[in-house]
Amino acid sequence: MHKLILKPGREKSLKRRHPWVFSGAIAKVEGKPQLGDSVEVRSADGAFLAVAAFSPESQIRARVWSWTAGDIDAAFFAQRIARAAAARSVSAGEGTRLVHGESDGLPGVVADRYGDTVVVQLLSAGAERWRGAIADALAALPGVARVIERSEADVRELEGLQPQSGLLRGELATGPLTVREHGLEFAVDAEQGHKTGFYLDQRDNRLLLRGLVKDKTVLDCFCYCGGFALNALAGGAKSVTAIDSSGPALAAAKANAARNGLPESEWLEADVFQALRKFRDEGRKFDLIVLDPPKFAPTAAHAEKAARAYKDINLLGFRLLNPGGVLMSYSCSGGVSPDLFQKIVAGAALDAGVDARIEHWLHASADHPVVLNFPEGEYLKGLLLRVGV
Ligand code: SAH
Repeated sequence: MHKLILKPGREKSLKRRHPWVFSGAIAKVEGKPQLGDSVEVRSADGAFLAVAAFSPESQIRARVWSWTAGDIDAAFFAQRIARAAAARSVSAGEGTRLVHGESDGLPGVVADRYGDTVVVQLLSAGAERWRGAIADALAALPGVARVIERSEADVRELEGLQPQSGLLRGELATGPLTVREHGLEFAVDAEQGHKTGFYLDQRDNRLLLRGLVKDKTVLDCFCYCGGFALNALAGGAKSVTAIDSSGPALAAAKANAARNGLPESEWLEADVFQALRKFRDEGRKFDLIVLDPPKFAPTAAHAEKAARAYKDINLLGFRLLNPGGVLMSYSCSGGVSPDLFQKIVAGAALDAGVDARIEHWLHASADHPVVLNFPEGEYLKGLLLRVGV
């Protein structure tokens, strides 16, 4: 097997089982590994550390498959994927994240299950190299009829990979794909929708919101296909206003509301940054505001610019709240830590001149676990804040 020999002292993070090898840590490459090939990672004194996938173009030059020596082959992926699936409890028709990258020992592999359909994203050189074995292993899970690929995320570019999507195994379904969540039904657009079609990570948080909205006025910013807005309607909100800049996402949200027989609400196709300013100028107020923006900082290098954007929307959010109102504010940026996010939101509250208390620290649902030694896995963090009366 090809080898990566690290610089002296650079084995420390691997010994703590952090699964990334950065380019700056590598002293020497032995052999001629190609994109996605397996390499043995060794310390400067030659001790074995891990088997990893080589990614020649990325700053993350290798991602660990295994902490023990041995071949990486189709059987390895079958075993890891079966293990990941066994750790989830999937009930028919519900959506579940089956494979969550590093957290399941499969860096760069994300797979969501919607009934008998699995939608997979292959986001690293190693995942790309093993596309066939990964697709076979997912298709072999009990009850899976098809595997669809949606490998279009920008992170593939950093790995030197082109976007790729399409049917990998099985036949396309004839009817629409749907997912049930807490008794609500959502259509999932696995071919054109964002990511794998639906944001399963907010499942628990949507239910939390449902319990807080009775007779309240609710604003759902960055609503996508209506995840929070539909739960607000189902929870008996007095009014719901939902904003997204994507026309197709709003059309899907409206159709999802109708599909569940929910009351009318206000769906706005607009840029949230502008819409919140307009509401401020008009003096509009709400009892509960959700801010669930897209990833502003894909990596730590973008954190500063992202911090300004988070502060901007949170400041506006605080200003639009009625006394005693609730702000549910998220960041899904891997490059912004929970600590930094809390500081940004605290700064926004200060500038808005409001007192706010944290009632809940929010996270992704349990099917998006975080490996203890890989804090980067905690990409989704949120705060549920109540402002003073
Ligand atoms: N809350 C949603 C997921 C949000 S994903 C859920 O529970 O499913 C982020 C959404 O923000 C996407 O739908 C995207 O279209 C939208 N978006 C991105 N930039 C935007 C902007 N500047 N203004 C409004 N919407 C935006």
